[in-house]
Amino acid sequence: MGGGLQIQSECAEIVRRRRELQASVRRACLDAHRRESDVRVVCVSKTRPAAAVECLLAVGERTFGENRVQEAKAKWPALRDRFPDVRLHLIGPLQSNKVRDALDLFDVIETLDRPSLAAALAKAMRGAKREPRFLVQVNTGAEAQKSGVRPEFADGFIETCRREYSLPIHGLMCIPPVGRPAAPHFALLARIAARNGLLELSMGMTADYQSAIQLGATHIRIGTAIFGERETDGRLSKA
Ligand SMILES: *Cc1c(COP(=O)(O)O)cnc(C)c1O
Repeated sequence: MGGGLQIQSECAEIVRRRRELQASVRRACLDAHRRESDVRVVCVSKTRPAAAVECLLAVGERTFGENRVQEAKAKWPALRDRFPDVRLHLIGPLQSNKVRDALDLFDVIETLDRPSLAAALAKAMRGAKREPRFLVQVNTGAEAQKSGVRPEFADGFIETCRREYSLPIHGLMCIPPVGRPAAPHFALLARIAARNGLLELSMGMTADYQSAIQLGATHIRIGTAIFGERETDGRLSKA
């Protein structure tokens, strides 16, 4: 028996889990009196091979998230040639020296978190192929090891991005502290967004997306519930 069969059954499993997830998102939306179409699943494909991603592309999935520029650069251009309507989100820290690559690859950059990065992006966007949307990452738990602007500096940073760098800011993103209740962090992110007139909230992962939907998430970032457990955690330390 070759690997083909194994890949086929893995594929079926991934597609089944994706559908199951959508049914669960639908129930969470019903409970929260929200429209299912107002919550988008970003399929987090970090650490997953292109073959696993193709299973979802084949059934019409088009929104994916990656957390490392290098990995996305190796995986996505070939897939993109065949599926040009893919929407790729960067959900991991962005180093200023990778800004050009990021602008070539990503439709949404969810991790804008410091003035030096805003400056580098603004500069690189002159003449870039793509004009991505930006979300500001907020370090809602004020964790030392985590990227993101601290909540008390969020308003000022959003203002700087808009005024000084003319970056199109569409919303906010957060990753709550591991092992703590996530709801207060989601609620805080929603408050910061509301008072800054921002409509998009990227919050909620496999462990806590129902709560995120209740609190207004417009994007949930889901890896494990779709692709299964990761062998490595695929995270980077702070950029
Ligand atoms: C890995 C990752 C996710 C997905 O996490 P799961 O628990 O596998 O759903 C979401 N957001 C970010 C920023 C990630 O790095």
